[in-house]
Amino acid sequence: MDLKLYDTLTREKRLFEPIDRNRVRMYVCGPTVYDYAHIGNARPVIVFDVLYRLLRHLYGADHVKYVRNITDVDDKINARAAERGIPIRELTEETYRNFREDVAALGCLPPDVEPRATEHIEEMKILIERLVASGHAYVAEGHVLFSVPSMPDYGQLSKRPLDEMIAGARVDVAPYKRHDQDFVLWKHSKPGEPGWPSPCGIATPGRPGWHIECSAMSWKHLGEVFDIHGGGIDLVFPHHENEIAQTRCAFHTPVMANVWMHNGFLQVEGEKMSKSLGNFFTIHDLLKDWPGEVLRFNMLRTHYRQPIDWTVKGLEESYNILRSLTDWPEFLTGKDERIAPSVLETLCDDLNTPMAIAEIHALHKKGDFASLGPTLRALGFHQRPESKRTVDAEKVNLLVAERLDARKTRNFSEADRIRDELAKMGVVLKDSKDGTTWEIAR
Ligand code: AMP
Ligand code: ZN
Repeated sequence: MDLKLYDTLTREKRLFEPIDRNRVRMYVCGPTVYDYAHIGNARPVIVFDVLYRLLRHLYGADHVKYVRNITDVDDKINARAAERGIPIRELTEETYRNFREDVAALGCLPPDVEPRATEHIEEMKILIERLVASGHAYVAEGHVLFSVPSMPDYGQLSKRPLDEMIAGARVDVAPYKRHDQDFVLWKHSKPGEPGWPSPCGIATPGRPGWHIECSAMSWKHLGEVFDIHGGGIDLVFPHHENEIAQTRCAFHTPVMANVWMHNGFLQVEGEKMSKSLGNFFTIHDLLKDWPGEVLRFNMLRTHYRQPIDWTVKGLEESYNILRSLTDWPEFLTGKDERIAPSVLETLCDDLNTPMAIAEIHALHKKGDFASLGPTLRALGFHQRPESKRTVDAEKVNLLVAERLDARKTRNFSEADRIRDELAKMGVVLKDSKDGTTWEIAR
C-alpha cells in the first residue's frame, strides 16, 4: 500500500519512497534529560511510535531503523544538577530512566538506537572541522560558529522572512558573531562547566551547541542522507533549520532527510501549558490517575499536525471509548498483531489516526473481533484500561447514607449537594427501587 506523508520542507503531502526499502531510516529529536517529561513531550513520542509501527508493518520489522537521541549536555542540565547538588551524569541517568519508564507505559516501543550526545563528541568535532575547512564555519574567541551567509539557500524549511530569523537568532547575540544569524557549533566552557578538548586547534575546553548534536548522531547512525526526520513544530526553527545547514554543508548534499515531519502543539484546557498557570502536567503524574493506554488513545484522537487541546473531559471520553472497544473477553488472551486493511489505509494517508479510530469503531460495530484485536495490539493497545482512581469507600458510604436521610426528610437541595460532592470525587450514584449503589466514573 502507498504511504503518503506531509513534508514540512516542500509543504505538501507526497508519496513516501524510501532510499533503500531494506533499510528505512528515521530520526526523531528526543528529550533533554533534566526533569520529568511533560505531556507535550509525549506527543512526538507517541506520534512517531505509530509511524514506526506503520513502517515496520509496511517494510518488515528488520528493515526499519528508528533513532531517537538523548540530549544529555545542555545548559539547563548543568543548572539543574547544580541546583540539586548532584553530578550531571546522575541527573541525566535518573531522568532518562524515568523517561524510558513513562514512555513504555504509553505503549511506545523503544527506538532501535537511543544515542547520547555525550557519547558522540568525536563525531561532532569531525563535522565542525569539516565545516571550518570548507568555509562554512569560523573560530572566534574559543567558540566555533556556523556562517549562515556561506549557505545561499539557508532557511528553506522555516521559510521565515530574514528579519524574523535574525530576531530569533538574536537570543544569544554575541560580539564575536560575524553575522547576527550565525549560530554556535561549539562553545567555550568556563571553569566548572562541562567541557571536552576543543576542535580546530582551540586551546581551551568547550562543549557542543544543541543543533550539532543531532547532525552528528543522525550521521553516525543513519548516514549523510536518510528518509524521515521528525519532531515537534517548535523545532522547525532554529533547531531543524540549523541541523539541515550543518549536515548539508558538511557533506555537500541537496537534502539532509527526504521527509520532514512535525507534530502540532499540545495545550491544556485551552491554554498554553506552563508552570505559572498551574496547568503543567508530567507524564509521570498523569500516569498516577490514568492508564497509559488512555493517554495514548487520547493523543491519537487528534491528527498529529493539528493542535491538540488536552482536557480531563477528553480523557474521560477516551477512557470510555477504549473500554467499549475492548469489551470482549478474547481481547485479553489474543497475542497476534496485524493492522486491518481499512485501518491501514487511513494510516497510510499521512497517519490519519482519527480516521483510523473511526475504522476501528466500524470493526467493533460489525463484530469483526478477528481484525479488531490484532489491529489494536499492532497500534500499541495491549490491555483493557482499568480505572486508577481510588476513593475512600467508607467516606462514600457515609455520604450516600447522609444523602438518603436528606431525601427522606425531603431536603432535596442537601441531597443534590451531596451528589455533586460525590461526583467531584469521581463517584457516580445509581438510584433504583432497591436502593442506591455507586461506582467510580473512571
Ligand atoms: P524538548 O525537551 O523541549 O526539546 O522537547 C522534546 C520534544 O517535545 C520536541 O520534539 C518538542 O517539539 C516536543 N514538545 C515540547 N512541548 C510540546 C508541546 N506543548 N506540544 C507538542 N510537542 C511538544
Ligand atoms: Zn534534534
